[in-house]
Amino acid sequence: MPIEPATMQPDISAWSFATDIAGLDRAHLRRRRRVVEHYDGARLQVEGRELRAFCSNDYLGLAQHPALVEAAREAALRWGVGATASPQVCGHSAAHEALERELAAFVGMPRALYFYAGFPANVGIVPALVGRGDAVFSDALNHACLIDGARLSRATIGIYPHGDADALGRMLAASTAHRKLIATDAVFSMDGDLAPLRALLDLARRHDALLLVDDAHGFGVHGPEGRGSAALLAVRDPRLIYMATLGKAAGVAGAFVAGEESAVEWILQRARSYTFATAAPALIAETVRASLRIIAADDWRRARLRELVVMLRAARLPAGWHLPPSLTPIQPLILGDNATALAAMEALWNRGFWVPAIRPPTVPEGSARLRLSLSAAHAPADLAALLAAIGDCASGPGVA
Ligand SMILES: *Cc1c(COP(=O)(O)O)cnc(C)c1O
Repeated sequence: MPIEPATMQPDISAWSFATDIAGLDRAHLRRRRRVVEHYDGARLQVEGRELRAFCSNDYLGLAQHPALVEAAREAALRWGVGATASPQVCGHSAAHEALERELAAFVGMPRALYFYAGFPANVGIVPALVGRGDAVFSDALNHACLIDGARLSRATIGIYPHGDADALGRMLAASTAHRKLIATDAVFSMDGDLAPLRALLDLARRHDALLLVDDAHGFGVHGPEGRGSAALLAVRDPRLIYMATLGKAAGVAGAFVAGEESAVEWILQRARSYTFATAAPALIAETVRASLRIIAADDWRRARLRELVVMLRAARLPAGWHLPPSLTPIQPLILGDNATALAAMEALWNRGFWVPAIRPPTVPEGSARLRLSLSAAHAPADLAALLAAIGDCASGPGVA
């Protein structure tokens, strides 16, 4: 990939932006955005090139679905484009109200609260649930917004080894905190593996804790009709606070939290990112409503994903490319060091495939990877072409 030179201003006083940015360049840690000129399912036009995309979280291929585009168009005509205020002032429309009822019903919980995005949702939810004198127990690989929410809450933070319910049990038993919150991704965003939700819920019961589950990558994909990872538990429990985002498989934008009536009402009262932010536009809420209908109806999209996962996992990968177990659309190809991951990304890019390199601090040091994400928008032939390109570039000079 061509890398344009940084526009370096001289450093001023206590800040050394230019030097710091040069340091990122040297460590192969500088992030660059690509300008996408056209989206068409898993085919993108990027800076004049046609690419097959294995980089999006549009797992069901809904982001350009004609029914959603039409819902957005009609909703814009009805509602205009801006929500004008916080939901607690005049930003909460009949569209938002209907969406919240439909989201709660969709995931089988008493009540849901819609947020404009997932990151601020978690940053608001965690401090609404716990504070000073309380404790958050957080999986070592949790998403940044759960971590930031925990930090903002001023509760003590206990980080348990990834997916290790036994270790978590010991930490909960030893804790003298007033209130305890277990927080976990349901599907880990960079590895695609699953949290042991049943064991975590058992621990929550045993230790009088709440369990906050972030299902950003499971909603729409997991559970009957895509109703999410919590639907797999097949129990309703007041200790479960379920959160999911709507910009990934749902193909639109926003997030929601669902749980018992009073817990959700408390979050509505106390989440600062909810109170002090403008509501999502009503047209987005209407578009998510249309998306929910397609998520439930189109089982073929989840079947296609399963087919692609099986096909990928049956493939022979080049030496040095390690594919850890994952049965989700998130398939990490671990390469190790940052420069190798970047070179692999570039080699695939040059062959017409966009598979993003993920480096620290997003993933642990030494585990730089390509994060391959599958979508119902892919045909099996797209994946076959990618696998051929991987074999091809791995045998070429300078890569892996
Ligand atoms: C993407 C993501 C979020 C943030 O959601 P946005 O709606 O994109 O802000 C939260 N949690 C996890 C696990 C995610 O992957």
